[in-house]
Amino acid sequence: MPWLAALPRNQVNWGPTINPDTCVSCGMCMNCGKKVFEWIDNRPVVARYDDCVVGCTTCGNLCLSHAISFPNIEELRCLYRDHKVWSAVKKALIAEGKIPRGRTPQEAAAPDEEAC
Ligand code: SF4
Ligand code: SF4
Repeated sequence: MPWLAALPRNQVNWGPTINPDTCVSCGMCMNCGKKVFEWIDNRPVVARYDDCVVGCTTCGNLCLSHAISFPNIEELRCLYRDHKVWSAVKKALIAEGKIPRGRTPQEAAAPDEEAC
């Protein structure tokens, strides 16, 4: 889980909320590759909130009527800073060979993660 490193998904509040008053049942959100939505009674419902990819907002960006919202992104970034997720993710990516191992600790380090 490189987006989160070791942070459990259930500690991360991230997922879509549909405003039923503005949804026009265009169906676009049903393209979500993680199958977060189910189509019930001619409209989508959020069926698997925690399956949403942390940080993703694609369905909201493409929703015809701007009916999908997400938690505050700055709260998510604070959680990442407080749990040093950037450092952990970089270590995991180096271990997986997705980015090269730095020659020095400084090169291998993640950017500063000051607590919120
Ligand atoms: S934000 Fe992305 S992963 Fe989450 S429900 Fe929308 S399309 Fe799916
Ligand atoms: S993309 Fe927006 S308007 Fe279309 S079905 Fe989903 S929530 Fe409703």
